[in-house]
Amino acid sequence: MPNGYFGCFWEDGFETILKKCGRVPIAHPILRYGGERFITRSPHAFRFSISFQCQAHCTHSHARAGVFHTPHGIVETPRFMPVGTLANVKTVTPAQLKETGAQMVLSNTYHLHLQPGEDIVERAGGVHRFMGWEGPMLTDSGGFQVFSLSEMRSISEDGVTFRSPRDGQMIHLTPERSIQIQNALGADVIMAFDECPPYPATRQQVEEATDRTYRWLKRCIAEHPRSDQALFPIVQGGVHLDLRREAARNLAALDMPGYAIGGVSVGEPPELIEEIVKATTPLLPENKPRYLMGVGTYREMAQAIAAGIDLFDCVIPTRLARHGSALVQGDRWNIKNARFREDFTPLDASCPCYTCQTFTRAYLSHLLRSQELLAYTLLSIHNITELIRFTRQIREAILGDRFTTEFADWLQPETVA
Ligand SMILES: [Zn+2]
Repeated sequence: MPNGYFGCFWEDGFETILKKCGRVPIAHPILRYGGERFITRSPHAFRFSISFQCQAHCTHSHARAGVFHTPHGIVETPRFMPVGTLANVKTVTPAQLKETGAQMVLSNTYHLHLQPGEDIVERAGGVHRFMGWEGPMLTDSGGFQVFSLSEMRSISEDGVTFRSPRDGQMIHLTPERSIQIQNALGADVIMAFDECPPYPATRQQVEEATDRTYRWLKRCIAEHPRSDQALFPIVQGGVHLDLRREAARNLAALDMPGYAIGGVSVGEPPELIEEIVKATTPLLPENKPRYLMGVGTYREMAQAIAAGIDLFDCVIPTRLARHGSALVQGDRWNIKNARFREDFTPLDASCPCYTCQTFTRAYLSHLLRSQELLAYTLLSIHNITELIRFTRQIREAILGDRFTTEFADWLQPETVA
């Protein structure tokens, strides 16, 4: 193998094959180099089956369009990722999900640990097989959910102890345990176990949480043996831009396969999210994907993309659907509203989704008023398609260098009517 092999390798590329070893398929990278193919089992080579290529930069903002390669396929960025908390995106089948344009899907470590338990998911062949989703997947670390249980938890340097809301049992979650669970679940991207401080919090509380998150990251890295899973660290720091910048610099120095910004969308005013993203993103490596956790509104996504963010997730499309609301070209409509009862037009005539291509607003209104379960499926299909379509349109605009003009309205602060 020539010296500098890995440097040259990027120009030649790679492919991944799945080889069945026992019950669980293992990804083996085939490297193409100088017209020859090499199969390697080197864990260092494995790392390279996960990569990010930047395809275009916007000349008027920090926005970029790229491709994130994972062992289960590609994610074209910028992209919205739907959330499948308990290894399912609520009321939507994987086949329907694929039709929405979804590429990467999330699942929650905390919820899957409580039910059915990671052992069962692992014995099923991993979370992809368990839920029937063949594309890229990401699991969060459980940190956000555990820290949301403010009444039922205690934090120490070792980890967090909390009472299971399911059966009242005490559970101790540590950085090591979170990684072990995520290794068993087997998603393509896994998240470092972090301490997410609440909003509002004192500066001292935020500083302690940010420092602990960094110490916990080191333990996550030490515990993570699988090079076919990309471990993303999470930038914390609350609304304190200096803490955010320091955290971003510390994490960037570790050369991880991707980076996340967490601890936003926890109750702070939306304009602070933009400030945090603008302060943090330029300090993260240019050649790695950047993921803004828990954000999924039109304006917040557009502004974050302008600052250089690539990936988003949010429960908003399915949660709104369960409340009878549809996202239509930037607005939220309550479909139970009387004006839709006799409206025989599609929800959005320009939308390519199954719901808009097949049904009328009057029919959706009828299903919701009758509390028919199909209503939630049809609205979820539309709402997920809508947010993915929004990020895809931004991606197209970046590729054509039209982003800041085409999406100018979304890049302004929200005007209060
Ligand atoms: Zn639609």
